[in-house]
Amino acid sequence: MKKKLAVVGYGGQGAWHGRKIQGSDVVALTGSYDTAPERQAFAKELGIHTYESFEEILADDTVEAVVVATPNDSHKELVIRSLDAGKHVICEKPVEMSVAAFDEMVEAANRNGKIFTVHQNRRWDAEYLAMKELVESGELGEAICIENRVHGSRGIPGDWRGTKAQGGGMVLDWGVHLIDQVLQIFKAPIIRINCVCTHITNDEVDDGFKLSLYFEDGKSALIEVGTHNFLALSRFYLQCQDGSAKIDTWGADVQLARVTCWKEENVVPIQTSAGITKTMAPRNSVSLDEYTRKLPDRDAHDFYRNFCKAVDGIEEPVIRNSEVRRVLQVMEAAFESDRKQQTLQVHI
Ligand code: NAD
Repeated sequence: MKKKLAVVGYGGQGAWHGRKIQGSDVVALTGSYDTAPERQAFAKELGIHTYESFEEILADDTVEAVVVATPNDSHKELVIRSLDAGKHVICEKPVEMSVAAFDEMVEAANRNGKIFTVHQNRRWDAEYLAMKELVESGELGEAICIENRVHGSRGIPGDWRGTKAQGGGMVLDWGVHLIDQVLQIFKAPIIRINCVCTHITNDEVDDGFKLSLYFEDGKSALIEVGTHNFLALSRFYLQCQDGSAKIDTWGADVQLARVTCWKEENVVPIQTSAGITKTMAPRNSVSLDEYTRKLPDRDAHDFYRNFCKAVDGIEEPVIRNSEVRRVLQVMEAAFESDRKQQTLQVHI
């Protein structure tokens, strides 16, 4: 039997859930509710049952779980009320804006004995999965540094994402995904954090940032979001002991280079404006093996499959609340570092 889900907030992401749930092998859509009449009308036009209020969803005994897909400042109340009404909950990212708020939500899940998980769906991004697999396999030797970035050139969307009170800004919007991905790849405690936010197109919230994370085992990560970048740098760049890898853009092949002979004979120098250099001269095929690889297959429906198994007590939620909490801790420290214009010593 498919588990029955209702979606609260039928904007861009609510409708995404609607489409996915309607095409799912494990979950079914009972209906949706949105405070905006035009989004109610939109859902109706698609033949979706629309509830007249959030309370009506909570009162519907057929609804087993609520999907919360509203702006970020409304998550806590909607999640806790759903849990207290005996529903399981999937909440959109960022789950909330502070660790303290998230702790209240987890407490509500615990006291009601319900599953509460967060839709960190970029755990199913093919580019991320390729990088994670590369680090775990050790194909290029021990990882040293990873760069995880997204570059766009259109500023931040002109909706609630530009408003601080509603949880706008790129740290909370994209940062939450990229930090989550990095913390799945590099697992050691973070001991140092530096973050610089940009305000090129928006004074109130950040429209981009550069976040450096330093891990106890010596690894580091650069996480970058830009919305004013008319030429984009690589989506991922990985530096390892025995090679490097990068993925230039969404859907592109992984480019790999593995050193086959560290010490080269007869290095041919390269000419630069200020003279020749051997240090920066590119390697040739004698000492470097260069190759490409297709991105792995993945299926976004696995999120709902895992959720259903978690509800049935067969599996742990793939997105663990302890992991979600750690990402929130990093975001809080990132904002503090930016505010103080300092590198912070941490243990996260
Ligand atoms: P949106 O503005 O397109 O949609 C939000 C909708 O919620 C609007 O239609 C609004 O009318 C409605 N709403 C607001 N308050 C409500 C309430 N109390 N009850 C019912 N409806 C209410 O925004 P969006 O892009 O869909 O983002 C919604 C959430 O989804 C955010 O938390 C966002 O970060 C997240 N999101 C996640 C992803 C992802 O990849 N996981 C992608 C986009 C957005």
